[in-house]
Amino acid sequence: MSGVLGIIACLMLFAAPGDPFVREREAMVNAQIVGQGIKDPSVVDAMRSVKRHLFVPQALASSAYDDRPLPIGYGQTISQPFIVAFMTEILKIKPGAKVLEIGTGSGYQAAILACVTPEVYSVEIIEALGLAAGKRLRALGYNTVRVKIADGYYGWEAYAPYDAIIVTAAAEYIPPPLIRQLKDGGRMVIPVGSPFMVQKLMLVEKQNSTVYTRDILPVRFVPLRRGP
Ligand code: SAH
Repeated sequence: MSGVLGIIACLMLFAAPGDPFVREREAMVNAQIVGQGIKDPSVVDAMRSVKRHLFVPQALASSAYDDRPLPIGYGQTISQPFIVAFMTEILKIKPGAKVLEIGTGSGYQAAILACVTPEVYSVEIIEALGLAAGKRLRALGYNTVRVKIADGYYGWEAYAPYDAIIVTAAAEYIPPPLIRQLKDGGRMVIPVGSPFMVQKLMLVEKQNSTVYTRDILPVRFVPLRRGP
């Protein structure tokens, strides 16, 4: 039931009145999402419905729909809209699939995921960011997203295995606990490489217990931190 309510919240946001950024968001979707080759209708609809300007610091709201990442405090960034859509699409999430995100940040990517499937778990290492994101997601009606403050290197064992895992910070290597928590037939997308250099966005697939990895795109993400 709560899953159904989450999806309804997504649809309601789509039609919400009094949104000063409707035009900017529509232009962003046309130019940066559909215009750059994103085709999955559930991903395009999610990008159309989630109010990105409510996930960035207020002073940056007018830049929220620009084609670039933005700072969200604590030295962290919200990815550019295309990257959010691209990483979501490549996971091929089926309705009802269970998804794990590492790096909640602002909660924007989690909100996009919540429009695609009701089962979203997200782990954030910086307590202040995780708490703020959890509060924001609830306030905006994305009630199905569960946020935990922890080192996402270890995934979220309690709800494993996952149909899809999305890591939104760059790891030096693919954390073995995440590979273990991926369902057979599941997909994971993760930037791999040294911090502050160009990294490789990798697609990891598990089939019959064998793990296949592919380089997809050069990207630049903040580093996956380690520790408490
Ligand atoms: N997905 C976010 C943006 C992610 S920025 C959004 O949509 O806004 C990367 C995030 O990963 C930051 O918030 C950072 O604090 C977090 N992070 C870094 N290392 C982490 C770790 N080991 N476990 C969980 N989160 C981590």
